[in-house]
Amino acid sequence: MTDLTFPATPAPAAGPSVPGAAFYPGLDDWRELPIAQQPTWSDPDVFSSSVKELSALPPLVFAGEVDVLRSRLAQAAQGKAFLLQGGDCAETFEAATADRISARVKTILQMAVVLTYGAQLPVIKMGRMAGQFAKPRSSNDETRDGVTLPAYRGDIVNGFEFTPESRKHDASRMLRAYHTSASTLNLIRAFTQGGFADLRLVHEWNRGFTSNPAHSRYEKLAKDIDRAIKFMASCGADFEALKTVEFFASHEALLLDYERALTRIDSRTGTPYDTSAHFLWIGERTRDLDQAHVDFLSRVRNPIGVKLGPTTSPDDALRLIEKLDPNREPGRLTFITRMGASNIREKLPNLVEKVTASGAQVLWVTDPMHGNTVTSPNGYKTRNFDDVIDEVRGFFEVHQGLGTFPGGLHVEMTGDDVAECLGGADPVDQEAFLTGYESVCDPRLNHKQSLEMAFLVAGALGQNK
Ligand code: PEP
Ligand code: MN
Repeated sequence: MTDLTFPATPAPAAGPSVPGAAFYPGLDDWRELPIAQQPTWSDPDVFSSSVKELSALPPLVFAGEVDVLRSRLAQAAQGKAFLLQGGDCAETFEAATADRISARVKTILQMAVVLTYGAQLPVIKMGRMAGQFAKPRSSNDETRDGVTLPAYRGDIVNGFEFTPESRKHDASRMLRAYHTSASTLNLIRAFTQGGFADLRLVHEWNRGFTSNPAHSRYEKLAKDIDRAIKFMASCGADFEALKTVEFFASHEALLLDYERALTRIDSRTGTPYDTSAHFLWIGERTRDLDQAHVDFLSRVRNPIGVKLGPTTSPDDALRLIEKLDPNREPGRLTFITRMGASNIREKLPNLVEKVTASGAQVLWVTDPMHGNTVTSPNGYKTRNFDDVIDEVRGFFEVHQGLGTFPGGLHVEMTGDDVAECLGGADPVDQEAFLTGYESVCDPRLNHKQSLEMAFLVAGALGQNK
């Protein structure tokens, strides 16, 4: 991530409906469209001053980096690379600590090594990190013991604590989200550029995690990699390329006031980039073609993802392509399917077939989490590891059957030893939720389950070649 192309100063030209935001034709058209899942801010003055401040703050990512990512994703769409995208369902301000961020980055690096080694493919590493603060909810309210308050919508909107004060929609939280994203990204950049991600430290990334079957399997693989590196070193190979890792940031582009305020006009190309993250996706609940989210994201240059659930028709997919990727630009559009283990083998083939027949080349990624959420008998939102794995297998089977490329994995995971998803080789049971459940939103794979998943996917990808 070395191409630091700075964006132009926001132009004070006519048209911006938000003071300070860079004007660009069409960039505010979404304001006239129906929009789902937005907050009702409690104080309009705080909203105006927060958006104004955000609009003048430095970009979190740079246009040149975004362009690099687009070219990497284009490789994946052609079957020459694989995307690994992982992180919390909802990041929180409180958990943005060095320990937790580094554990997550290390886990993603470990998963990527397992995938690269097993599949012999370059792996694009991307966090659901440094900005994953806004959550769509199925209900506006939450009731506990007869008390009803606004639902938690992510730390960028309100607090998780169940009090009227905390659940108020407070626009100044957008500024805290920005600054938390900035410090998270700063640490990620230090880790991945400052020597820690050097492949020669492959053993180090396993340190501090408790021993378990996936851990030992990883140790064995790390030894093999060590041997290969030593062999290459003896042959005089130059290892400059192993020292640093490209790591990209992504989140759901849900809160459009925030995304719009961080959109800047790139000085090289004169086009808008949403500088809140390299990659942004549109959620299953906000992918309506005629509504605000699709319109806004159709106008920024970042690579865009769209979540596709089991009700997606081939026509929906084709119309999304037409709107979000009219020029059929390689790497621009990623479809992240989240069908559920019981649906994927039935629903995915038709979608992939019709999209492929249209001539479009999108990147197909599996999100095996969101179609497999259940409530445990003791009342926790959870997922069975077996269902998650079954959806991944189904995804690979469908693509293998059609001769298309299963290009990526999107998971909710953490580097911590939490108990939120059931099962795995060192099984988590529902009793463990009582002390080990930390997520404020959806359940995540813990460190062991994440590594186990990586080994399974590496096996499937290896067979796919
Ligand atoms: C998510 O990724 O956390 C999410 C809400 O996903 P989806 O839009 O697929 O439901
Ligand atoms: Mn989620």
